[in-house]
Amino acid sequence: MAHREGVPNGVMGIKRSRVKTVPEHPNEDGDEDHTEQETTLQEPAVKPKQPALKKVSTSSQSSRRVSFGDGGVNHIEPEISLQVPAVEPKQPVPLKKVSTTSQTSRRVSHVSSTSSATGRRRSRKGSFFVADNPYADSLSAYEPEESDDESINGKMSMKTKVRDSRFCQRKRIVRIIVLLCLLLGLALGLIFGMAIKKEHDRTAGSEDGTVLESYGRDGIWNNIRLPKTLTPLKYNLHIRTDLTNFTFNGTIDIFIKCIKNTEVVLIHSTQLEIPLHTVTIHPENMHHEKDRLHLKRDPWFHEEHQYLVVELKTPLKAGSVYKFSAMFSAPLLHDYNAGYYRTPYDTATGERWNAATLTALTLARRVFPCFDEPSFKANFTLTLDHEPNYVAIANMPIESNTTLEDGWVRSKFEESVPISTYLVAWCVTDFAYKEITTQNGVLMRVWAREDAVDTVEYALQIGATILDFFDEYFGTKFPLPKLDSIALPGFPYGGMENWGLISYKPSRFLYKESVSPARNKEGICSIVAHELAHQWFGNSVTLKWWDDTWLNEGFASYVGPYIGANHAEPEWGLNDMFTIRSMHPVMTIDSLSTSRPISLPVATNEEILQQFDLISYRKGASIIRMCSNFLGEATFRKGLKKYLAEFEYGNAVRDDLWKHLNDVAKEDGRLFIDVKEIMDTWTLQMGYPVVTVTREYGRADGNLHFRTDQERFLLNPQSNMTTNYGDLGYKWFVPLTYTTSRDAQFDMPSQEWLSPGHKLTVSVTGVEESDWLFVNVEARGYYRVNYDENNWQLLTQQLVDNHQVFGVTSRSALISDAFNLARAGSLNQVIALNITQYLTSERDYVPWVTVKDVTGYIGDMLGKTGAYGDFQKYMLHLVTPLYQDLGWTDPGTHVKRQAQGIAVSLACSFGNEHCVTEASRLFAEWMQNPSVNPIPPDVKQAVYCTAIQHGDQKESTFAMEQLETTNSDTEKLLLREALACTQMPWLLQSYLTDTLDTPEDTKTVLANVAKNSLGARMVWDFFWENWDVLRKTYGDRAFYFADMVSSITAKLNTKYELKQLQSLIKDHPDQGSAERALQQAVESTQANIRWIQNNYNDVATWLSNQIDTLGL
Ligand SMILES: [Zn+2]
Repeated sequence: MAHREGVPNGVMGIKRSRVKTVPEHPNEDGDEDHTEQETTLQEPAVKPKQPALKKVSTSSQSSRRVSFGDGGVNHIEPEISLQVPAVEPKQPVPLKKVSTTSQTSRRVSHVSSTSSATGRRRSRKGSFFVADNPYADSLSAYEPEESDDESINGKMSMKTKVRDSRFCQRKRIVRIIVLLCLLLGLALGLIFGMAIKKEHDRTAGSEDGTVLESYGRDGIWNNIRLPKTLTPLKYNLHIRTDLTNFTFNGTIDIFIKCIKNTEVVLIHSTQLEIPLHTVTIHPENMHHEKDRLHLKRDPWFHEEHQYLVVELKTPLKAGSVYKFSAMFSAPLLHDYNAGYYRTPYDTATGERWNAATLTALTLARRVFPCFDEPSFKANFTLTLDHEPNYVAIANMPIESNTTLEDGWVRSKFEESVPISTYLVAWCVTDFAYKEITTQNGVLMRVWAREDAVDTVEYALQIGATILDFFDEYFGTKFPLPKLDSIALPGFPYGGMENWGLISYKPSRFLYKESVSPARNKEGICSIVAHELAHQWFGNSVTLKWWDDTWLNEGFASYVGPYIGANHAEPEWGLNDMFTIRSMHPVMTIDSLSTSRPISLPVATNEEILQQFDLISYRKGASIIRMCSNFLGEATFRKGLKKYLAEFEYGNAVRDDLWKHLNDVAKEDGRLFIDVKEIMDTWTLQMGYPVVTVTREYGRADGNLHFRTDQERFLLNPQSNMTTNYGDLGYKWFVPLTYTTSRDAQFDMPSQEWLSPGHKLTVSVTGVEESDWLFVNVEARGYYRVNYDENNWQLLTQQLVDNHQVFGVTSRSALISDAFNLARAGSLNQVIALNITQYLTSERDYVPWVTVKDVTGYIGDMLGKTGAYGDFQKYMLHLVTPLYQDLGWTDPGTHVKRQAQGIAVSLACSFGNEHCVTEASRLFAEWMQNPSVNPIPPDVKQAVYCTAIQHGDQKESTFAMEQLETTNSDTEKLLLREALACTQMPWLLQSYLTDTLDTPEDTKTVLANVAKNSLGARMVWDFFWENWDVLRKTYGDRAFYFADMVSSITAKLNTKYELKQLQSLIKDHPDQGSAERALQQAVESTQANIRWIQNNYNDVATWLSNQIDTLGL
């Protein structure tokens, strides 16, 4: 790999971002459209000549500033002083007066009152840009909605009640008759309307979708999906970002091809202020005012579906290209849901701000008007104006930088490849960067705060290795000449794969040797590989619609870490980690009856957000891995290459992938069942099977003879919770792999297919009754296995005699299956507990993670019972040999370091005296000399927590001071987790309360406090009391709210707590992205209550016997 300093093949070095000035050549390519665009775009940036844009800034300057109580975040709200329009608008559909505010203002911007994420946005209602707009009056007071008619009627009846007289009584009779007539009319109208709605729901968005007429009075805009009458070809987007006044404004030209004659243009837009007179449509290459197409009425906003609706007097003609143009502006908020936001960071000289986009998933429409669906790909030419102390980076390389008359800089970027709007990205930043050129010639740069740029090297190096590898693995080269990555403080997600400009959360991206733990390094490698896999799977070949989200995310979650990262760090054994990192965590959720099919039709923005959960990512990865295993890696990869080549720069659905995999499977003779037929059973219904294996003992032929059957695995088989999702009878095509103690074949095990509706009987010669049988070898299939009791005992005995006969993944799977089957009541809990007896010999990391997980559940359930003491003693007995073996010195390898971390963590948490003493000693040493941290990185988590748990307030105070002073994001994460370990309730309470001031940390803080048995109750109460603010802040964001709910409800296991949870749900019907997570919490709590009822006595007795037998 060639490192470099500024020029190709140099040496890697740190660079401070700077701007190079080059001469401006506005007409250099001589293209007519391009020329006109330059002329249009220059004006707002330098000295606004166009009246409309000038009005934007004038209006803003004269407006009052309004504080919204968000820590000093202000935005502009202009004065509203205009009167009700004098002329009634001519509208083709019945209209209503929308609100007092609307009636007293010229409404030329639109702000959704339903989809706001933060409330700051919502409070902008009435924050209207006042323009010289000849069309504005008619739009301002009226909107084509229907429901408010009732409220108007309601107000009138209130007035009627005040007039209590005989005259009024006579009038009342007349009114009743009129009202009855109205109600009858309304009912008929509703029936008629529903019929129409049903029809347009069916047709809109399809190739056969028709233009306005066939939608009748409802309009083509009454569908969340864009019609396929138009398609964007190219966007020219010019944005001016003002990081002094925190605003941005811009102009856009969209070149649109008409596919089918239509007189309606729908463009996604919300939260933007658009002077309506700037909204124009011209035929391509015709730019004059006289060429502008005439509108049927003023453009207007459909708030529910976030459309700017432009209706034309004469239809656009199929086959022709038109240019849509508009100007727009918005405040640059400190709000990660804003689409384009400002983000702060601290420096020695004070707070500084950067600006960055986060357009996924449907936020591009908050940044610029666009066709905001993944299948509407187009080429983007971006121009960014910014203050001279910043640079701009975007999807594509910079074509030119120009200094403008006012000293600002104009950065123009090369035209992009065809790209979906959710992947469009840019940043205006003052960060520093390092760079490298990959072997295949891609310039990779990694940007971070100047004081953190020395921690980007690992991500840069590993990224270059993986990008080169993927070029070869996918069979098509990364198509862009450069790839930037940026670690953005406060970034709400781990990473976002914007094409050519990937964003990361710093704690998931920045690595410092000897400071960051091995687990952190693995996480960085995995997430970089995940985002790089997306550059092909997601960015080049994109899902058609969000119901295939799982394909994007599942694929990146499998190919990224387990193929890409595994190639870059072959010593780590990442494939062995699959069960603990991906499969087992999602299996727990997917065994609830309130899970969901991985492939699910989605219609609303909330439903799209809810697609981003463990099911899409980890179940997606699990079933893709399963598919790769039953096809064979070579066949899988061959099919993948063909798929990626055919749909390059396009869109696809899951069936396209299945078809290509099926074709190569047939070619290679790998399969006799259709891939789609197999995979549909895994994608179209929720959950997964447990395969029950029953051996026939005492047969005369002496052969192994076993029957297999499948049924849906449910953690709580008695659950009465239901969903409306379809299913295929909850039967699956199960790739059944097995081996026995006779051959112990783990690499190439025998394989059969267990088909839906069939039982499978298998005979194997030469296997004796005393030999064990093991099914789902290396857990390559996404299912659990239960055996007859005798076979469980044979497997357990093998673990005790020599556990290394099984690989680490198979050991992990055996433990996970046994404990989860017991949790569901399908296996005697004692059989599962017996398996743990071999753990005094277990030294490997992967099985111990599973043990920590399954016994952690038992610990949580026993936490409030008298059996917890015995549980603690028994666990200490199991983990002590591992702890003693690994000790405190560096064990050498990546995996052993992680094993040491878990050993110290378990030993200290179960009260190993040596562990607690050593942890407290190391922490005290650090407190004495804070500038030198003597604690090895991989035991930091355990040491910090133990010292704070067993210490007094001074340890917490010290940790808090470190949290405030460290510039390491990983260290911050560790300290935050440790602060939640205190046993002082008042400290926990203030820790919880303070987190509301740092919204990006709230999820972590709540999850950490919930892990502390003292804090679990407090965090539940805190969540309850602060529902409104938490819902408002996180409820419209993918992952956050759902994760929060899952972590803080994990330990609920009493009927009282269940009742509280149910009443919380009832009292708060608007649950945002946590709706499903709350249902799952109810079901999990019911399962927990049932576990206590069914298992407590058995477990307590078994533990007590162990304590006696072992003399503990
Ligand atoms: Zn992803």
